[in-house]
Amino acid sequence: MHLKLPDRSGTWRAYLGLGGNVPYAPPSAPPLTPVQTLTRACEALGELGTVVATSHLWRTDPVGPVADQPPFLNAVAVLDTNLAPHLLLAGLLALEQRFGRTRTIHKGPRTLDLDLLLLEKTAPGESPSIAPFIEPVCLETPTLSLPHPQLHCRRFVLAPLAEICPTLVHPTLRRTIADLLVTLPPGGAERLPDPLFNPPAPVAPITSVAGHPRRAPGPGRLEVITGPMFSGKSEELMRRLRRAEIARLHTVCFKPSLDTRNAPERISSHSQQVRAATPVATVHAMQAALSQDPAEVIGIDETQFFAQDLVPLLQSLVQHGRRVIVAGLDMTFAGEPFGVVPQLMALADDVSKLSAVCTICGAPAVHSQRLGHSRATVLVGAQEAYEARCRLHFEPAGTTPAGEL
Ligand SMILES: [Zn+2]
Repeated sequence: MHLKLPDRSGTWRAYLGLGGNVPYAPPSAPPLTPVQTLTRACEALGELGTVVATSHLWRTDPVGPVADQPPFLNAVAVLDTNLAPHLLLAGLLALEQRFGRTRTIHKGPRTLDLDLLLLEKTAPGESPSIAPFIEPVCLETPTLSLPHPQLHCRRFVLAPLAEICPTLVHPTLRRTIADLLVTLPPGGAERLPDPLFNPPAPVAPITSVAGHPRRAPGPGRLEVITGPMFSGKSEELMRRLRRAEIARLHTVCFKPSLDTRNAPERISSHSQQVRAATPVATVHAMQAALSQDPAEVIGIDETQFFAQDLVPLLQSLVQHGRRVIVAGLDMTFAGEPFGVVPQLMALADDVSKLSAVCTICGAPAVHSQRLGHSRATVLVGAQEAYEARCRLHFEPAGTTPAGEL
């Protein structure tokens, strides 16, 4: 294979398919399940660049002539890299071999499959004020075809890809990934609860290749994600921030420092997703951090714990072109409006009020029910002390002052 030198005039964004359906037994180590193999392989992708997004794991039926084999696990990862296409391909083949891949039976069982699905080339803008230029790469060589020739007809690729970049356009078919997915005949693909990979360290935000953040002209936008506990607010916040990062926007995420649910510098959802977040004790501290940070998209979790001076700060940020996404409880466990969140709902461009599932009857739940008789002011993250309840099954603790949860 002819290897080109790394192309330093720009970088590449690669959309990679990962798959496997049999355990890998290394010579002198315990065997790895397919989930473990995919997770380790995703970590190892960090040797080739920076993993900026990953899908959940999907369980899919085998495709092709060898029907008598276990179902596959599949996922998609997005990798930013300086490696030119053929060097990247060589790196992927080396990783497959490291995880026990042998190419014996065509489309047969395998420990690890790494496919280069789509590639974009990013070149710096000509001047600092111009956004980087991104173009899809179309290639046809004996060893590499881009976009992947089977991409548009494989559910096991399109389903995880649509999860993280549904609006990405197939460069030759000129249709979005979401559109290609819905036109497939029905088939077996089931999303598992686990993300492929929780990055152990915060994924570095991408300002742009040239290091110049791209800010949309004009005013920004305030989005509120609210609802009771267990309604998926943090997960939705993380999803929006992740999408902004895929769009190469610079993001930052804050949380109140009294939230001790996690290791201090990250947030997590009840479905075990995690991402980096900066703990701040006061609105003033958030303002100080933002004065040093040109983030285009600002996320705030557990917003109900911030004081009223959050409102003027957020209004000013939006006025100056920033997109602000806040997630927080709208009601206390007494069923009353909670802190600053109702006011932000009134001022927002967009409000998503999520519901949870009532633990008594399964109906949509709008309330957070505190269990037991604790009178602690704040029981952050004590998941066992709360349940989601519908209006019928909610029993408010009537004497508790508003502002407590
Ligand atoms: Zn109910």
